[in-house]
Amino acid sequence: MKYYSTNKQAADATLEEAVVKGLAADKGLFMPYEIKRLPESFFDEIQDLSFQEIAYRVADAFFGEDVPADTLKQLVYDTLSFDAPVVQVKENIYALELFHGPTLAFKDVGGRFMARLLGYFIRKEGKQKVNVLVATSGDTGSAVANGFLGVEGIHVYVLYPKGKVSEIQEKQFTTLGQNITAIEVEGTFDDCQALVKNAFMDEELNRHMQLTSANSINVARFLPQAFYYFYAYAQLKKMGKADEVVVCVPSGNFGNITAGLFGKHMGLPLKRFIAANNRNDIFYQYLQTAEYCPRPSVATIANAMDVGNPSNFARVLDLYGGSHERIAAEISGATYTDEQIREAIQQTYQETGYLLDPHGACGYRALTEQLQPGETGVFLETAHPAKFLQTVVNAIGATVQIPEKLQAFMKGTKQTVPMSKDFADFKAYLLSE
Ligand SMILES: *Cc1c(COP(=O)(O)O)cnc(C)c1O
Repeated sequence: MKYYSTNKQAADATLEEAVVKGLAADKGLFMPYEIKRLPESFFDEIQDLSFQEIAYRVADAFFGEDVPADTLKQLVYDTLSFDAPVVQVKENIYALELFHGPTLAFKDVGGRFMARLLGYFIRKEGKQKVNVLVATSGDTGSAVANGFLGVEGIHVYVLYPKGKVSEIQEKQFTTLGQNITAIEVEGTFDDCQALVKNAFMDEELNRHMQLTSANSINVARFLPQAFYYFYAYAQLKKMGKADEVVVCVPSGNFGNITAGLFGKHMGLPLKRFIAANNRNDIFYQYLQTAEYCPRPSVATIANAMDVGNPSNFARVLDLYGGSHERIAAEISGATYTDEQIREAIQQTYQETGYLLDPHGACGYRALTEQLQPGETGVFLETAHPAKFLQTVVNAIGATVQIPEKLQAFMKGTKQTVPMSKDFADFKAYLLSE
């Protein structure tokens, strides 16, 4: 299938070009030319299919023309080596738990799929080694690094701001070794991002090594997120709760919710969506005013949603022909302060015993406030609460069990390459690699 750019000023790309380039030449985001509807018969039997079987049917609709069936099946089955259960929190409200993967956050799905798809393209063409550069403020680095760990022909450089990510997050990408190098930058997340952007634009560096990005805008990270919307629906259908499903997505860069919107365009019978924001509520304001006004992000306790100019807004606009009316008919918004997020974690824990993470807390709270009679709400629990240990412990005033997977990371030894924020230093380092 061909991909076009949301800015419509760049040439069409093949899947392989879109995956390797990440961003189109005109800085737009790649969109598939066709969003295929899945047949009624699929939805009739979906409740009897496994997560992997469902995901393969969805993957086939997007990637089936470009990847042989048995290879694609293998990629999907390898990616989804863990479950994504729907768990009841209270009457009519369910959590879709997306934290059962290796780094305990939903980004594992996209990270693992992209690594495997890129690995396939490299093997197929006998390409030279590909180097992935990724800047992270926390979760992206761990999901990408763990997704690519041990994939042949690919080396990953994770750039992160020294002293500005939590210890648990840092351990998840600095202790891996093998084909993963963590670069500890004397600067902020923005400095890390600037180093990566400069590297992509530097001709000498690009002649020296094949560089690619694993940013969340990449179609190979973004589209696979549709898998679990279908699986959530299947589980609700099995419970007899699938008639009027409202999906609430804690949103930052809007990649996750956009994948859900794609699912609906493929025929998934979801009633409507809610996008839950923290104080970085650019999308919420857009819904109210029809004006899109990006602004610098502010730090919150739901930090993976601290985005001041959500990249995937371009995809949402494109999907609905730029119509605010159509977007507002499909998605409603919500916005919460840190205080309201803490309150949601505390109250939910007290009332139901369910422990929310700060991102899921936004999603849960929005459902409790906006669900109509007869509707069933499901919110995406995007990360395990123990990843935000201090915040949740403070909110509930009790200790929190740290899952074994997280503890295992904590035992590893941190290994990093120290780096200044000067591009000249970073370039010299890469040229010597
Ligand atoms: C990345 C992330 C989000 C935001 O997802 P987007 O696709 O950027 O909207 C929400 N919660 C967690 C835990 C995340 O890591």
